[in-house]
Amino acid sequence: MNTLIAQNLSQVQAQIQAACQAAGREPDSVQLLAVSKTWGPESVRQAHAAGQLAFGENYIQEAVDKMAALRDLPLQWHCIGPIQSNKTRLVAEHFDWVHCIDRLKIAQRLSEQRPDHLPALQVCIQVNVDGGITKSGVTPHELPALAQAVAALPRLQLRGLMTIPEPAETPELMRAVHRQAKALFDALNQQGLALDTLSMGMSADLDAAIAEGSTLVRVGTAIFGKR
Ligand SMILES: *Cc1c(COP(=O)(O)O)cnc(C)c1O
Repeated sequence: MNTLIAQNLSQVQAQIQAACQAAGREPDSVQLLAVSKTWGPESVRQAHAAGQLAFGENYIQEAVDKMAALRDLPLQWHCIGPIQSNKTRLVAEHFDWVHCIDRLKIAQRLSEQRPDHLPALQVCIQVNVDGGITKSGVTPHELPALAQAVAALPRLQLRGLMTIPEPAETPELMRAVHRQAKALFDALNQQGLALDTLSMGMSADLDAAIAEGSTLVRVGTAIFGKR
């Protein structure tokens, strides 16, 4: 089926492969998360038909409704938007991954509410590397303590870090932010954590993020169109 979504997906995959090649990395070392927020089940179905399995969502209730409509497909769901305390149960019961942990309280609730019949919830801590004041995410200073505390929770598995850099004035400045995120990631692994996921890079900064070590890029608009 050669839909527009299928064409867009193969273009984004080609961009990822080219960025991996330019960086001397294996083409399968970067995973594509298709960000399907605001798009209906039919769009997700088209992406799945083109081979995409992992989808990112920001709005919890919208996502849960979509999952119900797509129960027949073996999809992996990633929560990439901020989570309020009153939404943790829905997230714990329905998602496979959470990228935006930035408070221990939310992580504790997710661990307590993760149903026993499901595997541990796979999580990343969101880190605010460039100090953007309006953004969520822990500071690099707060990160080590939160990472150790989250890694100790029984029903969560800490997989890595997620970051959303502000657009920088030059590509070099942008890459510096990515490099800092990679350094924080490496430092946690040196402290004994076994992290394998660096969720970094969107449409605008995909190449730079891959050059600096991203293992997962989150792309919405380039796949599904303008929201
Ligand atoms: C919406 C969103 C994306 C995708 O952004 P596009 O501009 O649509 O590619 C990626 N990451 C996060 C955290 C988002 O909220």
